[in-house]
Amino acid sequence: HAKELGRDRWCLYSSSLGAAVSERLDLERDLRAALAANQFELYYQPKISARNGQTVGVEALIRWDRPGYGMMAPDRFIPLAEQLGLIVQIGDWVIDRACEQVANWAREGLAISIAVNLSPAQLVERTLVDRVAGFLERYRIGADMIHMEVTESMMLNDPEEAIVHLQRLRNLGITLSIDDFGTGYSSMAYLKRLPVNRIKLDRSFIQQIATDPREADLCAGIIALAHKLGLSVVAEGVETIEQKQILAAMDCDLFQGYLFSKPLPGNEATRYLRAQAQITEAAQLV
Ligand code: C2E
Ligand code: MG
Ligand code: MG
Ligand code: MG
Repeated sequence: HAKELGRDRWCLYSSSLGAAVSERLDLERDLRAALAANQFELYYQPKISARNGQTVGVEALIRWDRPGYGMMAPDRFIPLAEQLGLIVQIGDWVIDRACEQVANWAREGLAISIAVNLSPAQLVERTLVDRVAGFLERYRIGADMIHMEVTESMMLNDPEEAIVHLQRLRNLGITLSIDDFGTGYSSMAYLKRLPVNRIKLDRSFIQQIATDPREADLCAGIIALAHKLGLSVVAEGVETIEQKQILAAMDCDLFQGYLFSKPLPGNEATRYLRAQAQITEAAQLV
């Protein structure tokens, strides 16, 4: 009897494992084909200046319109793209589209910078700087319009190598931000050595800022330290007016979050930016 039960259990386990494996293989196959099938899309989330409330830039966030699954968020496929060695190609596509978008906005008088997220494997690719320079030239845009966001995980393997690559991007004129700041390891120890311009305070800090005084103190301390090091600070995941006001009082430089706008597809982002530009223009006429 025990033997039979054991066999049943094994079958149950094995079939659900089999389903998971085949699901994963489907995902892999679809992801490998996605670029050629033109299934990726960039969404854009505005960044707002704390000083004057104007939208000064956007962050490009990738989506995958996977047939039969709807729009997939990056957390569900970027890690796999990294594992499969597809991230450099996908990342190039992102930079290409972002540069083209910036050029299109500039042509209609919308001077908006764009930030793209870089995976660690992209950062250490020897030819990244040349390829980026190629895109700037092709779309005739200044390097100051392009920002790049990297996480502290790039420091895990070879910090010295990461610093060299960051410096090359800086030399080209790209603005660099540390994304999700405060969630990585040894943030403070490396911060003063990194050739970066900005930090993006992780959303987990912002979430507690209005309810937990210690979290608020921590945020204020990080912002003050960043400013001492000559870095500007972006708060990510700002969802309430209260959070915005607290961050403004802490002298935070830029806001990003659902309070202002969720990430928007290209045509909606363009409409948003035009409307913002009109508001600014109207305010200047008064
Ligand atoms: P991230 O760079 O930290 O981007 C911020 C994430 O927070 C985005 O999620 C954004 O939609 C979300 N977010 C923004 N404001 C709020 C808010 O007020 N509340 C909440 N709850 N969430 C907010 P998304 O678009 O799903 O992207 C997730 C992550 O995927 C990004 O985190 C980034 O690390 C990665 N990613 C996105 N696009 C790319 C890409 O083109 N290349 C690479 N390598 N990674 C990417
Ligand atoms: Mg980011
Ligand atoms: Mg972030
Ligand atoms: Mg994040």
